[in-house]
Amino acid sequence: MVVAGGGLAGLRTVEELRARGYKGTVTLCGAERHPPYDRPPLSKQLLTGERDDTTLDADLAALGVDLRLGEAATGLAGGVLRTGGGEYPFDRLVVATGAAPIALPGDGTQWFLRTIDDALRLREAFRPGLRLAVIGAGWIGAELSTAAAARGCDVTVVEAAAAPLAAAIGTEVGSVTASWYEAAGVELRLGQAVESVQPGGIALSGGGWLDADEIVTAVGVRPQVSWLEGSGVKLDNGVLVDEGLRTTVPGVYAAGDCAAFMSRLYGRRLRFEHWDVALHAPEVAAANLLGGDEVYNPVPYFWSEQFGRMVQYAGYHGAAGRLVWRGDPAGRQWAVCWLAASPDEPPPPDPPAGSPGGPAHPDPPAGAERLVAILAVGRPRDVLQGRRVIASGAAVDAGKLADPDVPLRNATTD
Ligand code: FAD
Repeated sequence: MVVAGGGLAGLRTVEELRARGYKGTVTLCGAERHPPYDRPPLSKQLLTGERDDTTLDADLAALGVDLRLGEAATGLAGGVLRTGGGEYPFDRLVVATGAAPIALPGDGTQWFLRTIDDALRLREAFRPGLRLAVIGAGWIGAELSTAAAARGCDVTVVEAAAAPLAAAIGTEVGSVTASWYEAAGVELRLGQAVESVQPGGIALSGGGWLDADEIVTAVGVRPQVSWLEGSGVKLDNGVLVDEGLRTTVPGVYAAGDCAAFMSRLYGRRLRFEHWDVALHAPEVAAANLLGGDEVYNPVPYFWSEQFGRMVQYAGYHGAAGRLVWRGDPAGRQWAVCWLAASPDEPPPPDPPAGSPGGPAHPDPPAGAERLVAILAVGRPRDVLQGRRVIASGAAVDAGKLADPDVPLRNATTD
């Protein structure tokens, strides 16, 4: 067994292989020189100085893994993985090479926040009065701004869309978070595209200029899969895999940020950049590597800690028809639900394997509304219950959903 990529999904694959009784050799090749570490704390506790180390809690010696750090995979052919350090023949290979930040044009120095080295460098640079420009008001931009403002930096966030988080949760919901920036003393410039990053500042589209001492580009990531070009593994927004995380090359699987999997629940191919996916997808990959036939079909889950708030999101709202607010979004605790009308022939409503479970409901009648996604601020119970309701496929009563005093699980109509 060979694993390419030494992040959470790579490590979890090794752990799951051993947990399922696999006794043969496992080689893990990772481009970074660090043993597998956790990324979510990088933009949170590591930047604020509460933590210095986010190494994942794993006994690598006990796992008996041949760990090849600093060895990036460069190609794959005829059952052999090539890296900068050698060649590794395999019976089964898991691709878990994650994603990497997108850079913008220009000659100025751009910082990113993806690796622990990035985070430590940024933390070192933070000082009161530092003019820090952050390009992108997405999840990373928001968390980074929170930490930098708390350290006294003079933060300006430049965002091309009309609202923060617009690409992730839409303009209407994202707009609610704009006031959080202001309250933290962060200047947010919306609807402002960036032309290029230059020494000393940012050239803005339309001819404007923003002075900055340091510039962090946080406009999203791309799956790190170019090394697979020409290998026969089909790529389309990441590594294309089926419900069981199998690529188009027999014996080769993929999991985590780099894998675009076929979701049975949502009836389409999806790729998530969620910690929870990197944690759980390897359970299915490992089972299938060992001859199983499991399906990865989660209700996806993501969280973010920004501006003193816990923001949690479950589901996928791509197919949603309308929004239902639950509580006052001007307050500190509220949620918003995305509903979709049930199609004439709804997808199988059985709770998916690896999902939070919950009772199976009969198919809701055509036209009845189902919950497909929820975002909650300071209401973790809504997300927990919402995830179960989404998995069950039950019809919901929008009136009950809109009442924050009604537990979300009681808003189903079946
Ligand atoms: P990665 O973590 O990207 O690991 C892939 C590894 O493969 C990397 O070490 C990479 O260097 C290596 N690699 C790349 N190319 C090669 C190659 N050719 N050969 C060998 N190795 C290679 N998610 C949440 O749900 N909540 C959060 O609050 C949250 N916060 C985050 C904060 C930050 C700063 C970041 C960067 C991410 C955050 N995430 C969060 C997302 C989450 O961390 C990712 O979804 C998760 O790390 C994905 O794990 P992965 O193993 O698939 O990929």
